Amino acid sequence: MKNTDPKCKQCRRIGEKLFFKGERCSSPKCAITRRNYIPGFHGPKAKGAPRRSDYGMQLIEKQKAKKQYLLNEKQFRILFDHAAKKRGNTEEFLLQLLELRLDNVVYRAALGASRNEARQLVNHGHFTVNGKMVNIPSYKVKQGDIVALKEKSKRSKKFANIEARIKKAQIPGWLNVTAEDLSAKVLHEPAARDLRVNFSPQVIVEFYSR
Ligand code: SF4
Repeated sequence: MKNTDPKCKQCRRIGEKLFFKGERCSSPKCAITRRNYIPGFHGPKAKGAPRRSDYGMQLIEKQKAKKQYLLNEKQFRILFDHAAKKRGNTEEFLLQLLELRLDNVVYRAALGASRNEARQLVNHGHFTVNGKMVNIPSYKVKQGDIVALKEKSKRSKKFANIEARIKKAQIPGWLNVTAEDLSAKVLHEPAARDLRVNFSPQVIVEFYSR
C-alpha cells in the first residue's frame, strides 16, 4: 500500500534523511535537522518512544532503501532476487542495481533535484540514453551509456537553473557529468566503495536470507 504520509514525516518516523525534497533536504529547513524525533512523541527526550527489536531494525534498513529509491516491496524484492542470483557479493550487486536505474542516474547526475523529480522527468520523456528517448525509470543503464537531456527539453523553463545545480552538486566518481550539454556518462558500474548510502545493504541481505 502506498504511504501517503507527508515526506518529511516519513523521514522523521525512520529517523534519517531520505532526501525526498531536493535542496531543502540539505538546508536548515530540513525537518530532520529541526525536529529529529518521532512524530507524535513531543520532543527528543519524550518517554515511551518505541524500542526496536533486531527484526525491527532490519525492517527499518530495508524501508530506508525502498523509500529512497521510491520502490515498493515487490519491485525491491525483484531487484534483491536478481542480486542474489549473481555469483559474488550480493550487497554490492544490490546497490549497483539500485544505483543504475535511469531515474537514480538522473538524480545522481543532478539533472533532477530529487529522485521524485528525476522519476517524473524520465516519465515525461525528457531524457535520452545513447541518443534514444527512454521514459522508463527502472531502465538499467550500463557502463559507457550516455544519459542526456533532450535538445527540446533544454529550452524548457523547468531546466533554467540546472547548470548551476550541477556545478554545486557532489557527483559520484562513476559518473562524468558535462554541464554544458547536460549529459552524464556512466564511466563504470559503481563499486560499494563508490557509494555513500545511509542504510546497511548487509542488514538487508540478512533480512531476506532469514
Ligand atoms: Fe526528509 Fe528532505 Fe524533509 Fe529533510 S527536508 S525531512 S531529508 S524530505
